Amino acid sequence: MPPSPTPYSDYTLTCLGVGEGWPSGSRRQASFVYRFGPTRILVDCGDGMSAAFQGSGIDYETLDAVVLSHMHSDHVGGFSMFVQSLWLNQRRRPLPVYAPARAVPALKAWLEATVLPAGLIGFELQWHALEPDIPFQIGSVMVTAFPTTHLDSLRRSFEHVHPIIAFEAFSFLLDDSNRRVGHTADIGQAADLDLLLAARPSLLVSELSHIELGDLAARVRGAELDRIIFVHVARALLENLDQLENQLRNELEGLAFALARDDDVYSF
Ligand SMILES: [Zn+2]
Repeated sequence: MPPSPTPYSDYTLTCLGVGEGWPSGSRRQASFVYRFGPTRILVDCGDGMSAAFQGSGIDYETLDAVVLSHMHSDHVGGFSMFVQSLWLNQRRRPLPVYAPARAVPALKAWLEATVLPAGLIGFELQWHALEPDIPFQIGSVMVTAFPTTHLDSLRRSFEHVHPIIAFEAFSFLLDDSNRRVGHTADIGQAADLDLLLAARPSLLVSELSHIELGDLAARVRGAELDRIIFVHVARALLENLDQLENQLRNELEGLAFALARDDDVYSF
């Protein structure tokens, strides 16, 4: 007998924080839990996500890995607090953490600076440097990190005086052979979408802060997406929500979309 298909409800995106770089009274900063059947992956740890994770009811023990796209605080500012949350909630399973290569020693030092040494927290953090374009496995999901140009101009300005800063930034493809999702995190230009879209995801979870809507629409035309979920939307665009929704309807030419809010849970 063939295995029964995994139910639709076993594939979910929980938005712990959909904010962008600016602090906001209504949006926490970037953090997302993807559930692919038995596998749960946390993408980014923006400020405020620990409270959201606690509120989500997701079992701390069931999280299979943390993946950090880049080191801007709106994507990692909540990391040490989340490790503290895992400790206080008595996590026991080892937890892989994937991050830009230069960020790994910085993250370890940060946990020591916030009095969370390895011997205290009661579980092992397994550190991995993200390698561009080489798929790696988290539970049942293959993850590929595609480089983006998000931090390239800062790299040009500051790397020669600050050579230990991690200037890498990544988008992610998550694929378990039943579902394929593209997650942009932060991009630097429209062309950064190309590698992600070339992998033919059915769901794109896209930022809308560092790309013009028209450029994004041109890129996704013909990409055979089922849906786009917009996160990390520039605050100026949200000031006129009706106008933004109209623009999205026009530009995306009927492609289904959603403008995510904190605590939203989407099946995919
Ligand atoms: Zn950001």
